[in-house]
Amino acid sequence: MNRDDAVALDQADPLAPLRNLFDLPEKTIYLDGNSLGALPRATAGRVAEVVTQEWGQGLIESWNTASWITLPQRVGDKIARIIGAGQGEVVVADSTSLNVYKVLASALSIAAEDSPERRIVVSERSNFPTDLYIASSLCRDRGYELVLVDSPSEIEGLLDRTAVLMLTEVNYRTGYLHDMASVTALAHERGALTVWDLCHSAGAVPVDLRGADADFAIGCGYKFLNGGPGSPAFLWVSPRHVDRFSQPLSGWMGHAAPFEMSPGYRPAEGVSRYLSGTPAVIGISALECGVDTLLAAEAHGGLQALREKSLALTRLFADLVGSRLPGFTIESPLDDARRGSQLSLSTGEGAYAIVQALIERGVVGDFRAGSPDILRFGVTPLYTRYVDIWDAVDHLVAVMDNDEWRAERFWTRGAVT
Ligand SMILES: *Cc1c(COP(=O)(O)O)cnc(C)c1O
Repeated sequence: MNRDDAVALDQADPLAPLRNLFDLPEKTIYLDGNSLGALPRATAGRVAEVVTQEWGQGLIESWNTASWITLPQRVGDKIARIIGAGQGEVVVADSTSLNVYKVLASALSIAAEDSPERRIVVSERSNFPTDLYIASSLCRDRGYELVLVDSPSEIEGLLDRTAVLMLTEVNYRTGYLHDMASVTALAHERGALTVWDLCHSAGAVPVDLRGADADFAIGCGYKFLNGGPGSPAFLWVSPRHVDRFSQPLSGWMGHAAPFEMSPGYRPAEGVSRYLSGTPAVIGISALECGVDTLLAAEAHGGLQALREKSLALTRLFADLVGSRLPGFTIESPLDDARRGSQLSLSTGEGAYAIVQALIERGVVGDFRAGSPDILRFGVTPLYTRYVDIWDAVDHLVAVMDNDEWRAERFWTRGAVT
């Protein structure tokens, strides 16, 4: 394999035209779409239209005339197509952190009624911290114990006592991908409910919530859905649970008739009861442009084709690291079936500085502290090219061979790493 082979793979790639849907800086190799997705070309124009026309000219009328009020459901329906949910089952609202609170609270209410003897919520110690912080606070309020496992193999032994199993489908550090269908089936067989966090899987791997018979799911708008910084998140509830409880953040947008302005809360039918306050119109409009870039892939083989390309990209990356960078360890699963859309590496020392040296060369990945510290490279098959992987590894080899990363300027950490 040489650089020309990578260029040839791009020339033969049926998904290659989709890169044109994005406005990417000329010289950058962007391998951080799992942290902040790239800017779709359509977004700036659409946001300008929402601001100048719908807001500027339409003013308050636009809640009706531009259908602002149904944006959470309309964009939710588009996301449903990406995560194997039905129409009318997904809403866009709030942040992932808040949505974790809402769905976990509902799951605990159901468990308290159906199996009150179950007193634990199970998750992984390596889960994204905000999920664990929210879960631990909720468990404390409701009298549950949050039990964290160090390996997925420890989950099974806990399921007979578990009220809710809360997992992130693709681990943010390693890219480990759970088998959602089999884990959910096992949890159900043993009487536990499931909450799935799709932050690193929605738009990156084919998700089939209905096929897996999952219970609750939430996920992020600004990662693989390309919704932009601070984009609102999404939330799905299985139709079999959705009308059983109203969630605790029972604001007026989740009311059956918000403009009755009645003092008593009456939850809306279906997933709309998971809305709380006024929808973030500008943010959801930007998110819609991001989701449309993924739906555009439907004409090119859809998520299955994206998945195959993503695996080919991370496999190429792993092969090149294996042959050219003996000082690095691959922290992501090498088994395709267990690897999300990223490759994580570790090395003896200087992970943060190495990532900074790469950024100076135009290769944008990121660093995640922990043990070990991780150099993380996300691939987004909508716009990542094979040649980008080749060049990124070439830059990493240069950073190491020239000891570039030892330069002092790479050792100062910013507020966001
Ligand atoms: C990115 C991410 C979040 C982010 O939550 P916010 O509320 O948007 O800050 C939460 N959970 C997981 C698993 C994530 O990957």
